[in-house]
Amino acid sequence: MRVLASTDIAIRVLMLLGHEPPGRHLSVDTLARQLGGLSRNHLHKIIRELAALGVVRTVRGAGGGALLAVSPEEVRLGALVRRLEADQALVECCRADGGHCVLTPGCRLRGMLCDAQDSFYDSLDQHTLADCLPLAAAGLTSERPSPMSKPCPTPLPAPARR
Ligand code: SF4
Repeated sequence: MRVLASTDIAIRVLMLLGHEPPGRHLSVDTLARQLGGLSRNHLHKIIRELAALGVVRTVRGAGGGALLAVSPEEVRLGALVRRLEADQALVECCRADGGHCVLTPGCRLRGMLCDAQDSFYDSLDQHTLADCLPLAAAGLTSERPSPMSKPCPTPLPAPARR
């Protein structure tokens, strides 16, 4: 199973924000730099999506950006990824609407794949964002190179997926 590139980046954003002291925001420019020179437009879209989920709060104006709206312990990864992935089911018959595969009525593979998909999310639900915050151990500050500053191996432009 593979998560969307935008989901991967959204979690990276949350990890960087989670590294900041409570109440302190990171600007979009800083986030873009920390994430290896990501497009600001792409980041804006991801931040808007995270804000819509209630996970971050946005800060307007010059130097504006985002900060965590909840504590890292409250962000359960399975629930987060499930929301960010929306209708990206492993196979179409695992979608909420059941899909339109003509083999669905008698298909014995369906249950196996849908169970595997559920197991993926259940496994992630065993963890929260707080479990993804090893950055303090590296003495990271928002102005130092981030361990996550390597360009994402997945092509990132083309954010529109819905
Ligand atoms: S073949 Fe089976 S598992 Fe694949 S989409 Fe159709 S119903 Fe689902």
